[in-house]
Amino acid sequence: MEEKITISVIKADVGGLCGHTEAPEELLDVCDCILEEAVDEILIDYYVTRCGDDINLIMTHKLGVDNEKVHGLAWRAFEEATKVAKELKLYGAGQDLLAEAFSGNVRGMGPGCAEMEFVERPSEPVIVFCCDKTDPSAFNLPLYKIFADPFNTAGLVYDKSMIGGFKFDVLDIIDNKQVTLKAPEESYQLLALIGNLEKYCIKRVYRAKDNEIAAVVSSEKLNLIAGKYIGKDDPVAIVRAQSGMPAVGEILEPFANPHLVPGWMRGSHWGPLMPVSEDDARPTRFDGPPRIMALGFQLSNGRLIGPNDLFDDVAFKRAREKALKMADMIRSMGPFQPHRLPETMLEYTTVPEIMKELKGRFVEVEKKK
Ligand SMILES: [Mg+2]
Repeated sequence: MEEKITISVIKADVGGLCGHTEAPEELLDVCDCILEEAVDEILIDYYVTRCGDDINLIMTHKLGVDNEKVHGLAWRAFEEATKVAKELKLYGAGQDLLAEAFSGNVRGMGPGCAEMEFVERPSEPVIVFCCDKTDPSAFNLPLYKIFADPFNTAGLVYDKSMIGGFKFDVLDIIDNKQVTLKAPEESYQLLALIGNLEKYCIKRVYRAKDNEIAAVVSSEKLNLIAGKYIGKDDPVAIVRAQSGMPAVGEILEPFANPHLVPGWMRGSHWGPLMPVSEDDARPTRFDGPPRIMALGFQLSNGRLIGPNDLFDDVAFKRAREKALKMADMIRSMGPFQPHRLPETMLEYTTVPEIMKELKGRFVEVEKKK
């Protein structure tokens, strides 16, 4: 049997400079040192980056998903980075490390994680998406377009290996359940669910004809893990491209037309998802608008060749301008919905306290007889 390669992207926010805008070089350097020491022993290769205040550890290895050594390594990198963040008194130092000590894997402990294992194809292009100021449901709309909409992905019509469609694992994040739906046959049922960003998010996508993994999204909801909301779950995703999968350009195409996602300012507002270069992933305006960056790699026996900073292209300039216009428009709503998120999705809210204070002042309104 051919040997499998695993790509693991594990992310956490362990401190920002200043406020929630950016994880500084000092923290990335610490993570870099820790991962460098693990090359050969645990990892084949790695790339450390940041999107806003989130550090993203992109790692390749042969140990499979949910591996204790790989997750333990990421945890240790975030712990060491937290020490530096505390020394520098960075904002929210260590905020995503919710457990006292590491056990087993990072799920349920604060960091987010997207991983997939596969036999490397003769040419293996993968795209790693990293976001800030949003939430895993931000990928619902683009993943639908990429893997189920022939108006976005021409290959669904023209590539024989995709004509059988794709299967979507959909998570119910409120009731902790999962369902698998297949497009095109069940695309209306799929849309009925994933259009509801309060409750559903796409976790994985598989090619239907052979169950080959195509995409995976980090979906560890920090608000549910911690019992109360401590930090937003800024997501990452891995998508495989070309040769029986959508082309790189088909995977990037949905982001040319920005959509509104939850998670801007205090995790409590809708905002447009702006596609940016690695350099421009430092959200400042009203702590946003929400950002997404796309790093393209070619795998070579597990080695990460690249990245190619895919949104660093003039072709996405208009998308950025459009996102800024959408930002102007929705910002004018201030504390009013639909800029403000519905009650169930708010990261911070004073409403229960206000309701307590006002309880005695509400009077019954007389009903018409
Ligand atoms: Mg963040």
